[in-house]
Amino acid sequence: MGRHTKTDKPIPHPTSWLTVLWQVEMLELGGRRYGQWLCQCKCGKTRKVPRMKIINGGIRSCGCMKKALMKEFAEVAAKVWAERRIQQEAANVQ
Ligand SMILES: [Zn+2]
Repeated sequence: MGRHTKTDKPIPHPTSWLTVLWQVEMLELGGRRYGQWLCQCKCGKTRKVPRMKIINGGIRSCGCMKKALMKEFAEVAAKVWAERRIQQEAANVQ
């Protein structure tokens, strides 16, 4: 830990899809300075992310992670629903 810690490249949260490229700007918020870093998502898109959000996982993708998770959830839900329906139909036949 040195004096330059604030501008050191942050290490993304373990569940993050982001790769940190380089620092782009400092944000002034309430008298404090926050580094913003350009990150590349695993989908290939880039976005600026505040340093803390990279580390604590507040932002873990360009925004596509949420969409991917929702799609996955919808697919699983559709599958479960289809299986239940097949079972019900089978029960009705008997
Ligand atoms: Zn993405």
